[in-house]
Amino acid sequence: NRGLGDWIHRRRVKSAGRIALVSAAGELTYDQLDERINRLASALADRGIGQGDRVAYLGENYPSFLETLFATTALGAVFVPLNTRLAPPEVGFQLNDSGSTVLIASTTLAPLALAAARKTPVQTLALVDDGPAAALEPADGDLQPMDFEELLASGAAVHPDVQIGLDDLAVILYTSGTTGNPKGAMLTHGNLTWNALNVITDFDYTSKDVSLMIAPMFHVAALGMGVLPTLLKGATVVLEPKFEPGRVLHLIEKHRATGISGVPTTYQMLAEHPDWDSTDLSSLRNLTCGGSAVPLRVLDIYEQRGLSFTMGYGMTETSPGATTLPGRYSRDKQGSGGLPHFHTEVRVVDPLNEVLPAGEVGEIQVQGPNVIASYWNREEANQSSFVHAEDGVWLKTGDMGYFDEDGFLFISDRIKDMIISGGENIYPAQVEQEIAQLDAVAAVAVFGVEDEKWGEVPRAAIVIRDGHELTEAQVLEHLQGRLARYKIPKSVIFVEEMPRTASGKIRKPDLRKQYGTV
Ligand code: ATP
Ligand code: MG
Repeated sequence: NRGLGDWIHRRRVKSAGRIALVSAAGELTYDQLDERINRLASALADRGIGQGDRVAYLGENYPSFLETLFATTALGAVFVPLNTRLAPPEVGFQLNDSGSTVLIASTTLAPLALAAARKTPVQTLALVDDGPAAALEPADGDLQPMDFEELLASGAAVHPDVQIGLDDLAVILYTSGTTGNPKGAMLTHGNLTWNALNVITDFDYTSKDVSLMIAPMFHVAALGMGVLPTLLKGATVVLEPKFEPGRVLHLIEKHRATGISGVPTTYQMLAEHPDWDSTDLSSLRNLTCGGSAVPLRVLDIYEQRGLSFTMGYGMTETSPGATTLPGRYSRDKQGSGGLPHFHTEVRVVDPLNEVLPAGEVGEIQVQGPNVIASYWNREEANQSSFVHAEDGVWLKTGDMGYFDEDGFLFISDRIKDMIISGGENIYPAQVEQEIAQLDAVAAVAVFGVEDEKWGEVPRAAIVIRDGHELTEAQVLEHLQGRLARYKIPKSVIFVEEMPRTASGKIRKPDLRKQYGTV
């Protein structure tokens, strides 16, 4: 019985008195957190939640997120974190698809929770008082919400006695839906445990760490790379519901944070804040950055403060770590996703699944105890996303990339986003990286538009940073000599904002639809 739901309970003696969570709600030691988890688990069990049942959560970073995660999984039930940026029908889809019968939500999101829960199997709605309550306009037949603290208090402080195997389902987490509809990745207790062990091993987590979580935990990156490894070590997690640069700098200094995670923009915004120079950053040692490469100008600013970034490549399906680039290589191997995590295998193959030599671009496939075995309710994706080879099962990532001579993985782009122009492959990500070096660029996306002569040609859509100016000619001039001629966009358009998924990724299918014709 070594499931996720036992982690805090098993820690309560060794880590007694140690702070597990810090948040707007105050501090919780490991023993206090254990008691709250046990009460919540008992309360959920009293309401009929047991092995295999699904419990959904809709809210920002707050202790109740983790209490629900651990209580649910301690019962052998399945935790379903929902993205708070989704629209009611999208949340409704995930509640229906997962078959969640309990929904725990933030009072600030109560209208979304109530609307989304209509026509779903949800029978219990509990609201967490984590901010200003939103005015409710219940419709006929709507659920009567209950208070989360009352629900929790109704349960006995007894840890559930449920046998759990590492192959049992722990979490259904939906992918971002960048290439289509989100799919429920079925993360087992083993998947999340092995990922946490990978991260602890490769990032040198210790019990003295203080991880400041500003990225939302309903994304697998924050949960898998930050929160779970920290708690498995018996260290401290500081939960912050929103990204506000000045406050983040304050929290780093106040809690002597050792780790934070973000995307390149997060780090750029911290460095641009007026308090940047006066903030003591000496406690930081682990800055992780996902999504895309950190631009050199941001690397420079952080290096002046003695800080480097650990980059990573991964996806919901790998819980999420696949590869990681240690900080000491962030300049030499700039743009690389790094080396496979310690207990994870990565290969690059041709369309017949034959392994390619270094330097050759092909599909990236991942194997390991952190990789899911299937998607929830997705027969077709389950057939098409896994390769059953002699040496085991490989997940087809849908990403293209190559290994360099030293074994570092470089991600070229998604297969679906690749542009084929006059028979040459163009990886938009490479073009975007060059354009992003321009100071005036806030966001850039390169995509293919139909062309009579070449089949497809690249086009760039750019959002200009406030207070800056930029012309098409300046962009094209910047690219001359940096990129092969055929890779240089044939046209540049300037847009107010990018179409994005709820997780903030640019939706290329929408760009192609909107701006894909000449
Ligand atoms: P969907 O699968 O629903 O289309 P998604 O793939 O965006 O959405 P996620 O699991 O959140 O859902 O994202 C994983 C993807 O993000 C990877 O497959 C890859 O395309 C991209 N990605 C992750 N890390 C990196 C990185 N370091 N560099 C480039 N791309 C990355
Ligand atoms: Mg994906």
